[in-house]
Amino acid sequence: MLDRTRHTIAFDAAKNAVLLAESHDIPPTPIVFEVLVKHSEGTHEVLSAEVAAALEKSEAEREAAINRIHAEYLNNSTLQEGLERVHNGLSSEVADVIQRMSDGMKGNLRMAEDLRTALREIAGHVTKDQLQIVCRHLVKSGRMHLSDTQSVTHRLEHTQFQLNEMHRELAVLREAASTDHLTGLPNRRYLDDKLLAHIGSGEAFCFAMIDLDHFKAVNDTWGHSVGDNILRGIGQVLTQNTKGKDFAARVGGEEFALVLPKTPLAGGAKLCEAILAEFADILWVTQNTNEEIGSFTFSCGITEARAGDTHQSLFERADALLYRAKENGRNQVIAE
Ligand code: GH3
Ligand code: MG
Ligand code: MG
Repeated sequence: MLDRTRHTIAFDAAKNAVLLAESHDIPPTPIVFEVLVKHSEGTHEVLSAEVAAALEKSEAEREAAINRIHAEYLNNSTLQEGLERVHNGLSSEVADVIQRMSDGMKGNLRMAEDLRTALREIAGHVTKDQLQIVCRHLVKSGRMHLSDTQSVTHRLEHTQFQLNEMHRELAVLREAASTDHLTGLPNRRYLDDKLLAHIGSGEAFCFAMIDLDHFKAVNDTWGHSVGDNILRGIGQVLTQNTKGKDFAARVGGEEFALVLPKTPLAGGAKLCEAILAEFADILWVTQNTNEEIGSFTFSCGITEARAGDTHQSLFERADALLYRAKENGRNQVIAE
């Protein structure tokens, strides 16, 4: 019965995805299909909101917008493949080491048994010839054991090397998991983790939310790749202006955040003003034709963490200030 329901839901989502693609004239490539199915399932609110916006776009832009949604929300395959590789590598290395250790133990037992036998043989009276035979046997057994041990040691050294490699790969994957692929800034996951840690530490810090002004118009007029370049640009300005424990992150879309530990509100606001001035000063031109695009601004709300703040209350306060900056005419920083 349960399975039947699952079946129906899956079929409905797939049918709806095809219908959506057809009615919006988007070729149902595997990527488009995956996004539309996810959207039709109705389980991913943020993705669904983005898909709804994408479907409203002009015909020329729809497919690109859907592809971007896929890259943003569904395409963590590189990460998954990487993690799987490390996992499989670790499992086989561990199995191999266990096997080698067990072989090594057997070698030790054999050697001990040989010694015990030899001791038993020379316990009574032995002739010189007999003693020679026992010694020769022991030397042979010792050599064999030495060669076994060397091969285990060799193999363990190789394992050590493999483990170091995996350690490096894991570090790269960890970095990828907390980085926004477009701007290279820390992503929302990183921001949330750090914010929780800062709130938990009870230390003073400032939190700023930044949202580019009239950014939709950039995409509508100049296309998405220009929009993406400008996002990379603000990413660079933010990176250059955050030192030490300060950091900037991409919250999503054209929204960014700044976390400034041990910074008084006035100092934090000054930094945001400086970043705004620097960003607004850039004159953007198209890459190929050098056509003048213009300059851009952002609005920003900055606040100080208070006792009793939660992740949510901090976001809400900064967001309300940001909203006020927008209402006030944009291109400004409001601190409170
Ligand atoms: P406001 O000043 O009120 O913030 O206006 P706005 O146009 O910036 O605000 P709105 O939220 O309506 O539009 C944000 C736009 O940002 C919509 C979307 O096209 C664009 N955007 C979001 N993410 C990306 C992205 O990764 N690349 C590009 N090129 N554009 C993006
Ligand atoms: Mg926005
Ligand atoms: Mg905006």
